[in-house]
Amino acid sequence: MSYSNQPRQRRRSSFSSGLKLRLLLAGGIVLFSLISFWNKGQTNPVTGKVQRVDMTVKEEIMMGLQSAPQMGTPSRDRDAQNRVARIGEQLVSALNMDLTHRGISNPFRFEFTLLNDQRTVNAFALPGGQVFLTEALYRQLGDSQVAGVLGHEIGHVVERHSSERMAKGNLIQGLVSAAGVAGGGYDSSRIASYVGNVVNMKYGRQDELESDKWGVLLMAMAGYHPGAMMEVMDVLEKSSGGGGTPEFMSSHPRPANRKVYIEGLIKDLPPNVLQGLQR
Ligand SMILES: [Zn+2]
Repeated sequence: MSYSNQPRQRRRSSFSSGLKLRLLLAGGIVLFSLISFWNKGQTNPVTGKVQRVDMTVKEEIMMGLQSAPQMGTPSRDRDAQNRVARIGEQLVSALNMDLTHRGISNPFRFEFTLLNDQRTVNAFALPGGQVFLTEALYRQLGDSQVAGVLGHEIGHVVERHSSERMAKGNLIQGLVSAAGVAGGGYDSSRIASYVGNVVNMKYGRQDELESDKWGVLLMAMAGYHPGAMMEVMDVLEKSSGGGGTPEFMSSHPRPANRKVYIEGLIKDLPPNVLQGLQR
């Protein structure tokens, strides 16, 4: 009896030592991912917040400049392009003025490009300060609304959201592979990668609201009534109604929810800020 039991015992112990090894390995990966993530701490030169990012601001600017030509053909409408650049520069000067008051020099290099794209309603920013707006969105906006969209994109740059997301992506990848190793199977790693995506998405939404805040502040500082940001949300809502979802929306929270948030931000501004601002 004891004879026949032995092989089964051995099999079980080799199974449990395999599991132990996998857990040990997974633990090592988790530890390594977490340590390298926390070691990435950098103080944001503009906001003063400590962030986990992989790149320096200089590297962000270089990366942005390198990728800019691949973002699409610039608009042939010179007047429109000039108008976008002028509004963008007004927002940047307002930002710079505020930073100078606080003894900070702006390390980012902003440039505003109108893209010759009549179909996609979109605006986005590359790390470092390259900001883009499509003609399809531009044609639906007045000056103040353009300021709202560009101010929001400046917010993404200043908060270094893409760098943060890249660093988080590396962390999540580490954790996902650890889960794969620990579970020893495809299914658990698939579940883990799904969780990773959800976490990523949530960070994205937080980033959007943070950028809306910058948009509202920069608009007011540059002399545009931030109420126009609410109208931008209406434009986005409308363009999501007909046909496909615009890109600007797919990564952004629903405009209706953002409107409530933006309204709150405007209410929180000191009343004298809004005095004399034309909508
Ligand atoms: Zn955004």
